Amino acid sequence: MLAGDFAHIAEEVVRVQESGADYLHLDVMDGHFVPELTFGPQLVAAVNRSTSMFLDVHLMMYNPYDYVEAFVAAGADMLTFHFEATEDVEDTLQYIRRCNIKAGLAFSPETSLSLIPKYLDKCDMLLLMTVPPGRGGQPFMPEVLEKVRFVRQTCDQLQLPMSIEVDGGMNPDTARQCSEAGADVIVAGTYLFKSKDLKAAVKTLRDASEQGRP
Ligand code: ZN
Repeated sequence: MLAGDFAHIAEEVVRVQESGADYLHLDVMDGHFVPELTFGPQLVAAVNRSTSMFLDVHLMMYNPYDYVEAFVAAGADMLTFHFEATEDVEDTLQYIRRCNIKAGLAFSPETSLSLIPKYLDKCDMLLLMTVPPGRGGQPFMPEVLEKVRFVRQTCDQLQLPMSIEVDGGMNPDTARQCSEAGADVIVAGTYLFKSKDLKAAVKTLRDASEQGRP
């Protein structure tokens, strides 16, 4: 949604709803964890009033724990925060789940995944950033594919049904590669909003990722 048009947010939300996308992914940036500053719970609440879509809220901010309540009240259906942004990963995941919404844990491309097994049964989704967090329109980092494979294998070994979301630099080619590696939620911003026909672009992306599905 970062790539959408903020001045016409309600119209953009309707356009996304009619595009055939499954989730509406909202990037919250605090100007500290990442240099950019986007929006907070008020905008999420405004989006929530204009659609019944599943709101996938990606918090790129420090101290996510302190904001869980506000984003839940705003209508988030899933809150994903960064492993790098807090020392209270476990508490934050538990708190989000106690609010009866889904909890996601995000990892920047350079972060080691060695601690991932510790959190697998405590979250509903893992978000692997395929670009450095903080800006739209950056090129895909193919080295993250190895991480997607590692997480999918680890989840399979533990027989944990886990969603793996990839975010950044998505186009039909990178979406297919990610889905081949085991990702099942593809986030796209620039690719979709730059296209002339949003609905066709969603279909192209969906077909490409289905082609890659093992
Ligand atoms: Zn995001």
